[in-house]
Amino acid sequence: MQIAPSVYFYPFTSMVENNCNTVILDGPEKVLIDPGHKHLWPELKAKIEDDGLNPADISLVLHTHCHPDHMEAGEILEFDYNAVQAMSEAELDFLNGPGRDFFPWMGLDCPRGSISRVLTEGPLDLGDKTVHLCQAPGHTPGSLCLHWPEAKVLITGDVIFARSVGRSDFAGGDFQALAASVAKLAALKDVDIILPGHGPAVVGAANVAANYQAIKAYF
Ligand SMILES: [Zn+2]
Repeated sequence: MQIAPSVYFYPFTSMVENNCNTVILDGPEKVLIDPGHKHLWPELKAKIEDDGLNPADISLVLHTHCHPDHMEAGEILEFDYNAVQAMSEAELDFLNGPGRDFFPWMGLDCPRGSISRVLTEGPLDLGDKTVHLCQAPGHTPGSLCLHWPEAKVLITGDVIFARSVGRSDFAGGDFQALAASVAKLAALKDVDIILPGHGPAVVGAANVAANYQAIKAYF
């Protein structure tokens, strides 16, 4: 579903399966953020096509972090559509180290694709728009959030949810770092929509403010 101009949000809701929410930024460079599990890709692909978008036009797959329920299907977009997979350097280091263990723990194959683009905090030029990447460790060592000030959209991965925050008790998690990341994101201006990695979106400036107020209780 289109949630803002050029922003498509695909929330995942199932009582029996876990997968992440996916976001697509439309434009000359189409970016898909967090493709989710491989076995659920056909379902997501159908939803994307229903919105009149062509998955083959996606040139960049941006992984907020390397947990399998967010990134596993990235290799499908790489192999089928030549999309480039990207994440932060700290997250790639984690994926090449202890983060890799999440895959066998979940009974999944390790990623076969390549993360051929490393992203850093700061502006990311997408042709017709510039978005801003924020390094937000705590849930994982190299989590990235994406802020598009003109659209007032903040994509938070598993750092911030509606009325909740990401876990910091998995390998690579750090509670103090998570607290600092949430404070950093809360200070961003021009956020009227939070698109988290799981659960519903937070829509409206008042609801965004109330959400930050509510999640203070976690720290
Ligand atoms: Zn996660």
